[in-house]
Amino acid sequence: MPAQLDTHIQYLKGVGPKLASLLALRGIKDYQSLIDYLPRKYIRVVQDLHKEELFPGDLIETQAYFVGKNSRRISNGRTITTFSFKNSNFNFKAVFFKLPFRGFLSQLEPAQTVTLKSKIKKISLHSIELHHPEIQFFSEQAELEEQKPTTSENQKVDKADLMAIYPEIYNLSSDKISKMISGALKELENSIPETLPDFVMNQYKLPGLEACYRHLHLKDLPENPVKGLQTNNSIFHKRLKYEELFWFQVRIFLQKKLNTKKKVTPLLRASKRIPAALENLPFQLTQDQQNVIQEIIDDFKKPLAMHRLIQGDVGSGKTLVAFVSALHVIDNGGQTALMAPTEILAEQHYKKAKEFFEPLGLTVAFLSGSQKKPEYDKNLALIYSGKAAFAVGTHALFQKNVFFNCLKLAIIDEQHRFGVKQREALHSKGKEAHFLVMTATPIPRTLSMTLYGDLDISIIREKPPGRMPILTKALFQKEKKRAFETALEELQKGHQIYWIFPLIEESEKLELKSIETESPEIIKFFKGFNVGILHGKLKAVDKEKIMLDFRDKKYDILLSTTVVEVGVDVPNATTMIIEHAERFGLSQLHQLRGRVGRGTLEGFCFLMLGKEVSQVSIQRSQIMEKSDDGFYLAEEDLKLRGAGDLYGTKQSGLPEFKFVNLIEDQKIIEFARKDAEKFVSLVQSKRIKLNQELEPIKKIKMWSLIG
Ligand code: ADP
Ligand code: MG
Repeated sequence: MPAQLDTHIQYLKGVGPKLASLLALRGIKDYQSLIDYLPRKYIRVVQDLHKEELFPGDLIETQAYFVGKNSRRISNGRTITTFSFKNSNFNFKAVFFKLPFRGFLSQLEPAQTVTLKSKIKKISLHSIELHHPEIQFFSEQAELEEQKPTTSENQKVDKADLMAIYPEIYNLSSDKISKMISGALKELENSIPETLPDFVMNQYKLPGLEACYRHLHLKDLPENPVKGLQTNNSIFHKRLKYEELFWFQVRIFLQKKLNTKKKVTPLLRASKRIPAALENLPFQLTQDQQNVIQEIIDDFKKPLAMHRLIQGDVGSGKTLVAFVSALHVIDNGGQTALMAPTEILAEQHYKKAKEFFEPLGLTVAFLSGSQKKPEYDKNLALIYSGKAAFAVGTHALFQKNVFFNCLKLAIIDEQHRFGVKQREALHSKGKEAHFLVMTATPIPRTLSMTLYGDLDISIIREKPPGRMPILTKALFQKEKKRAFETALEELQKGHQIYWIFPLIEESEKLELKSIETESPEIIKFFKGFNVGILHGKLKAVDKEKIMLDFRDKKYDILLSTTVVEVGVDVPNATTMIIEHAERFGLSQLHQLRGRVGRGTLEGFCFLMLGKEVSQVSIQRSQIMEKSDDGFYLAEEDLKLRGAGDLYGTKQSGLPEFKFVNLIEDQKIIEFARKDAEKFVSLVQSKRIKLNQELEPIKKIKMWSLIG
């Protein structure tokens, strides 16, 4: 049977189980994902060409004869040596910042012929500059003049050979990857189906899908070089990006349509408890909070189910907005469920919910996987009977055996930590339930329109008043004393410290500080203060206990991995120390920093840099020092790291794209969105028959399954 795109990679010639499992680490499972693995860059291997046909970055291999050399000192006392070579077409400057083999190069004699092999650094009018080229001597002294072409007409121009460079997969070389892809494309020949509707293909004169893959993997190279190939910006690249965005947007538009179909009974009665609840609060709501609550209540009064996203920085008061909104639902006879991704966070929400709802005469239920059976059953009954107006929980909330009496509002905190199906599973527990999701991942407005186009968006930008700014300082290893001293001063004032490590234990592979390696020094330096240790390997109950003990000040210092990250609230903690800050994205650092300064005390955040930090890491810490605006940091994060990396992990809260860069590809995003909208309405008015094109149907069906 001929291979198809979804044929498992193990059927490809030369791919055994071992190689297959290596490829799986990069998400390569079938022929499709293999050919989606595009070259990181293309280099040109050039024999002898005209200068107009060469570009910086090309790899050339050429013969030339030695002309002379020249050394000069530069400011820091070092010497730069330039060897000059010449052949019939060019002058070459071979620049050495450090001489490799003194003896070797000093043997060069005038007119001696060598082979130079190097990437082109610079091309100027008179010469080509190479840095540290490979130089090979000829054994017999070839006479260069003999090879010199006589006239320009018969000067033979070799076709430039492009070479695709693939990102290596562990020890799997670019070469080997290239061969595998060649094999796959050969087997797939004439069997890659078209996936874009005709009107789109014609409008932009896009190349066919198979042609795209063949070009991008350099299987059919036309005579003329492909424009933009080397900058990953060719029409073939654009087609794949467009395709990815088009179907993404189609799904969003279909989802949006589904959303607008869900009719519900309007919740018109004004809430009696909201005024009372606001009375009970020791503070005033911020203007942003009030606005968002109003937007939500306006939605409740409509005959359509709400689908809304609240975007707000850490500590901006989203939870409270959710609670107040829930009162409107409750006073109209419905139940509300709030789901959080971790036990710690769910239990914290539960406590806050009890403080908030119980004085109003309401019952709060709690469901979690780690509960004992009687406890669990009791809460299940509260939810089922409708006695609990508000239910808080983890994933336990959307399990099959959970039934609500009358769920009218499903709230999901840290929505990106749940899958689409999980969110929907909770939402569908109520026949007429409104849907509210919350995220502390602030992203630029243009991006949220694209990514969350199926939701209405509310933004809380303003922070509650009275918060002191957090003094943020990046420190190199030799400056770590500063963090220790500030921490000590804070402890002596009775305040508490978070100390974050990337690892619990020493790792053989990564040379990183861990809780295990550093805790002895910390315990010794801060003698007399209590140190708690929190990490993901502890049982949920133990984690909760440690977190509670920290909150209740049984510990002064909490050493932790990033499990502490999500929404945990300890107002007396003033100092956040993050080891190996270079390993975290700006948004994640910002989230961690948001753990302190939650009360009215002055806060400190030290970003401890590891031994080997890149320029970009230093730049990033400087941005952290300057800004406390999550939306701004998200923008910078996107610029510096690329959207796929927003948090450094899959927890980014943003969908992952294979080909698209959400910052650089703004234009394509706009076109794709426009066309997707048109496509959806054409499909709905039946002007496009879907059954001609297998692939699009598959894509739509996949999505509509969840709707
Ligand atoms: P988020 O979920 O957005 O990170 P929370 O809702 O947990 O933030 O709020 C953080 C803290 O700020 C909580 O202790 C909360 O009680 C408090 N808070 C919320 N709104 C206000 C406000 N308007 N004024 C003062 N404090 C507030
Ligand atoms: Mg929160």
